[in-house]
Amino acid sequence: MTTYDPSNIFAKILRGEIPCHRVYEDAHVLAFMDVMPQADGHLLVVPKAPSRNLLDADPAIFGPLMAAVQKLARAAKQAFGADGVLIKQFNEPAAGQTVFHLHVHVLPRHVGMELRPHSGKMADHAVLARHAEMIRAALG
Ligand code: 5GP
Repeated sequence: MTTYDPSNIFAKILRGEIPCHRVYEDAHVLAFMDVMPQADGHLLVVPKAPSRNLLDADPAIFGPLMAAVQKLARAAKQAFGADGVLIKQFNEPAAGQTVFHLHVHVLPRHVGMELRPHSGKMADHAVLARHAEMIRAALG
């Protein structure tokens, strides 16, 4: 049985030990830009309650988590003039998970535009800061 390790990178971000480009926060979740975005505006929504992934999470978190995902998907779509929004979430290494604190990916998608590789190239921090600002502005 795999267990939750509080030294994971998203737990450190939640504790404020390492920086992030913050987009949204409420009592249940923190949302910030993915540092290796697969598309412009790629952000992550992270519940504050510790769980490794969906498999060991308290189901009570799913309501507030998905409400935040919907809010952020709408804002990211508007901010980037996207045609659609991809929501994805990986569980365990076999499924592609690389950071072991539950998180949901939100990716604005444009018709005909390929996604960049998962965990690929680190984005420029000035660009991430600008994209975070665009999504915050769309949140109103
Ligand atoms: P997973 O495969 O676990 O669903 O994806 C983890 C995601 O976290 C990847 O898309 C990766 O680019 C992103 N990521 C990895 N390290 C960091 C980090 O230190 N900060 C941020 N903001 N994103 C990260």
